[in-house]
Amino acid sequence: MDFNLTEQEKMLQVTAKEFAVKSVQPRAAEIDRSGKFPFDLAQKMGELGYRGLPYPVEYGGSGAGYLSYALVLEQICQASMTTGAIMAVNTVPEEAIFRFGNEKQKKAFLTPLAQGKKLGGIAFTEAETGSDPKAITTIARKSGKGFVISGEKHFVAMASAVNLEMLFTRREGTGLNAFIVDTASKGFIVREPCETMGLRGLGTAEVHFDDVHVPEGNLLGAEGKGYDVLLTAISLGRLGVAVEAVAVAQAALDLSIEFARQRKARGKSIAQLPSTQWNLAEMASRVEAARWLTYRTAFLRDQGQDIRYESSMAKLFASQVAVDVTRMALQVHGSYGTMTSLPVERLYRDAKMTELYVGVSEIQRSIIANELVE
Ligand SMILES: Cc1cc2nc3c(=O)[nH]c(=O)nc-3n(C[C@H](O)[C@H](O)[C@H](O)COP(=O)(O)OP(=O)(O)OC[C@H]3O[C@@H](n4cnc5c(N)ncnc54)[C@H](O)[C@@H]3O)c2cc1C
Repeated sequence: MDFNLTEQEKMLQVTAKEFAVKSVQPRAAEIDRSGKFPFDLAQKMGELGYRGLPYPVEYGGSGAGYLSYALVLEQICQASMTTGAIMAVNTVPEEAIFRFGNEKQKKAFLTPLAQGKKLGGIAFTEAETGSDPKAITTIARKSGKGFVISGEKHFVAMASAVNLEMLFTRREGTGLNAFIVDTASKGFIVREPCETMGLRGLGTAEVHFDDVHVPEGNLLGAEGKGYDVLLTAISLGRLGVAVEAVAVAQAALDLSIEFARQRKARGKSIAQLPSTQWNLAEMASRVEAARWLTYRTAFLRDQGQDIRYESSMAKLFASQVAVDVTRMALQVHGSYGTMTSLPVERLYRDAKMTELYVGVSEIQRSIIANELVE
């Protein structure tokens, strides 16, 4: 067992931190308040190569691997979880294309995503479900040499920003299908924006597919086998959310240490109080445990292992840690923690999102338990 990062990983971490502190952190409050998608930061992350870290150079990536992806994402999310989430969401269709796409699809779709020239998203959730693939009603009908898609998707992150959407549909008599849809296609319509309490500025919206024509060559994997594509791609999505959770918790801990050192109660620093120290020690220990569970999941993916089970565990645990640690951070800050002029309350709102999106905690528990008892 070697817990040391390589020189390349350490360097990536340092440069990502520089970018996060200099370019992302000063924008975090404004992105959260305005709810506006930060197109410039999305582009900058593309230029820095952050949108293709795990994928081979031949497909536009840098071949740095999944742990490197986690390290960079962590630094960016510490500054702004929304900004990091752009990178994480884009990686979900990338992973699906990399694992299930044929050579032509990898060249046509993965390469521009990994190069940062195009942005990708995933549209799975519908009005009636975000948890049950069997309840998907968006339909793909066969039409000549392609398909015609109609339906509605809810809570689609980066809906107005993406060029390619990985869309999950059903076709009568078959299972799920996964398509790569060009968002410039006629009938791809972004409707209601979703005003969410956290992850604000991620451009989450409702999208309608009004008879969108999709060529046959845009079907990912075999027809009716979209569930496999979903499970593999979403595993990487869960790894991304686990990293987001670790980052938000670390940011809350850092702010709490700084605040506790400065704040006085009855003439001495609150950092000297046993109750504050209890909070800080709990926070630090939980963040560290969540971090290593998450890094290990990324490491296993680098080893070529399937991480469906491990990514559920990492997401379940790290998101609980994020919620607990940001709640404790609010306690350390007292009423100042609730002020919208300070970042703690944003971290608390963002932390809660990690227990909900890309699969609620109940679903993660069910995946883990099924693996244990099957
Ligand atoms: C900011 C944001 C961004 C998002 N981005 C995307 C995106 O890009 N693409 C996308 O497709 N979706 C996206 N989502 C949707 C998100 O992934 C889903 O909302 C989430 O998976 C939960 O689905 P749901 O809201 O339909 O909850 P439901 O499935 O309706 O579940 C509601 C509650 O019922 C219980 N429950 C449901 N099923 C079970 C079960 N099997 N076992 C036990 N309890 C259960 C749980 O308590 C759960 O919390 C996003 C959501 C948000 C908030």
